[in-house]
Amino acid sequence: MGQMQQSTGSFSATLRLTIGELAVAHPIAVPSASVPATDIVPALQGLVNAVVAAAEAGRVVSCTKGCGACCRQVVPVSRTEGERLLQLVDAMPAGRRAGIEQRFAAAEAVLAPAGLAARGDRSDREFSLAYFAQRVPCPFLEDESCSIHAERPLICREYLVSSPAELCAGPSQEGVMPLPVPKISLAARALQDDRDSWFPLAMLMAWRRTRPTASARRPGVEWLQRFVGRLGK
Ligand code: SF4
Repeated sequence: MGQMQQSTGSFSATLRLTIGELAVAHPIAVPSASVPATDIVPALQGLVNAVVAAAEAGRVVSCTKGCGACCRQVVPVSRTEGERLLQLVDAMPAGRRAGIEQRFAAAEAVLAPAGLAARGDRSDREFSLAYFAQRVPCPFLEDESCSIHAERPLICREYLVSSPAELCAGPSQEGVMPLPVPKISLAARALQDDRDSWFPLAMLMAWRRTRPTASARRPGVEWLQRFVGRLGK
């Protein structure tokens, strides 16, 4: 981290990351107080956006608004992001929340009987292909657009392609060329539990029924240091 500043209520610094050939300097601010890990997600969203923008520079991206083909792939979500998304859903007006919860129930009704509620012993590739074959839309997808765009998971931000959009709908993803965006979102997976754990986003409401309820609180800068310490591991 570069220069650090402590002001009332927040800690700010310029985070300098070098990932492969990519160098990013990004101003970041997190709460000074002890907070749950969910409170630093906005800072991580800004950081991921900056890394993606740097990776995108000078490249052609074929993703467009209204193309939700990739929103039928498995979206791995960490506990921290899962808790943040539950807060988001809980804060929605009742009617909208009910509609989204219905879509989660519909997704679970397909995925659970198909043995796709969790990766289990399968390889990432095997699980991803089996999951994609079910063609289950993300419950946040509306009219082929992300209805929570500003709050979408970190990994959704990192997935962009340069190949023709229609290839993304193919069963084996053959010919799809993702942009080489460093997946710094992976560092969020072990933020709270010290182990790499995730669940498919579409299983968010099922995860809610069994999730750990005790959450640690740490100063924002400590969460940030834990995240930075896990980059590249
Ligand atoms: S959260 Fe949004 S961007 Fe991510 S898979 Fe769902 S609809 Fe698509």
